[in-house]
Amino acid sequence: QQLATVGASSKYGGRYTVTMIPGDGIGPELMAHVKDVFRYAGVPVDFEEVQITSQEGDDVAIENAITAIKRNGVALKGNIETPHDMSQALFKSRNVEVRVRLDLFANVLRCKTFPGLPSRHGDIDIVIIRENTEGEYTSLEHENVPGVVESYKIITAKNSERIARYAFEYAQRHGRKKVTAVHKANIMKMGDGLFLECCKKMSEEFPNIEYESMIIDNCSMQMVSRPQQFDVMVMPNLYGNIISNIGAGLVGGPGLVPGENIGQEYAVFETATRNTGKSIAGQNVANPTAMLLASALMLEHLGLDKYASLIENAVYKALADDKIRTPDLGGQHSTVDMVQTVVKEVEAQAAKL
Ligand code: ADP
Ligand code: MG
Repeated sequence: QQLATVGASSKYGGRYTVTMIPGDGIGPELMAHVKDVFRYAGVPVDFEEVQITSQEGDDVAIENAITAIKRNGVALKGNIETPHDMSQALFKSRNVEVRVRLDLFANVLRCKTFPGLPSRHGDIDIVIIRENTEGEYTSLEHENVPGVVESYKIITAKNSERIARYAFEYAQRHGRKKVTAVHKANIMKMGDGLFLECCKKMSEEFPNIEYESMIIDNCSMQMVSRPQQFDVMVMPNLYGNIISNIGAGLVGGPGLVPGENIGQEYAVFETATRNTGKSIAGQNVANPTAMLLASALMLEHLGLDKYASLIENAVYKALADDKIRTPDLGGQHSTVDMVQTVVKEVEAQAAKL
């Protein structure tokens, strides 16, 4: 099964065009820093910038953005703020809309201990694979009679098999040993039961990879007490959201970990925990690491591996050797301090390429 390959992205004369969706909160400033780092690294990528707003009735912006991603195949994205009060009940999340309309069925994040960063647990290397298009995220809700709300959680065999296959193929491709399916089938016997059955059936096609299942409650506890036991994990949408946040928290928080949304045809890269960071926007304090690493994953996806490693290594070096610590990591460095340290290293290494 071929997934979102470079063929799907636009490339002219050795240069690539990718869509950039700045989003809200800290999104725009982080994107500006990514552009700076790309310029110093000499990355052959041009960004086509499109904004999506959460203004009610602004359907033009989202259509333009989706058209742009379809044309370019690849995007780097900040999070778009979604109002979450009852008066806006009919307003669906633009972020979800992008994932569903582009059929970005797999959300993949790797939570790996950062060298040189102190953390409660060491030696973590977990890949969280989350079904990204259905489950609890259908936005199908209504108030039946006053005081009674129904929310639909949709689990299909087609999408469960697809995400299960993706997880096992990922494990195989990356030399991983175990896949853990996370569920609550003791309570949601039909919905999660179907998801679990699809994972179990898929595991039979991959006899070299160990398979286990774990209930979401126990899984949450195991994650914070003995996270080293996990290798690749696969789960429905909402559990994925929660476990992703635990995973990112374990290795250092929302400012560090990148994430990818992968489909058959398109790929969208963003930070793992998809925060807007509204309260820290414009203050030069956000940690740019997650978005820079997301941009590196995007370069890897485009086949620009040497630029991807150039940026990745520079980010790791800034954290481990130069000990740059933005406030989220307990330090006093600014966003710009981190970016300048990365740029300096990128320039030094790019000269040798
Ligand atoms: P959401 O967008 O889901 O509302 P928030 O924006 O509230 O999430 O982010 C959750 C927390 O994580 C906030 O305290 C925010 O400041 C912090 N945070 C998110 N991204 C970063 C970042 N890049 N650097 C530092 N802190 C961050
Ligand atoms: Mg918030």
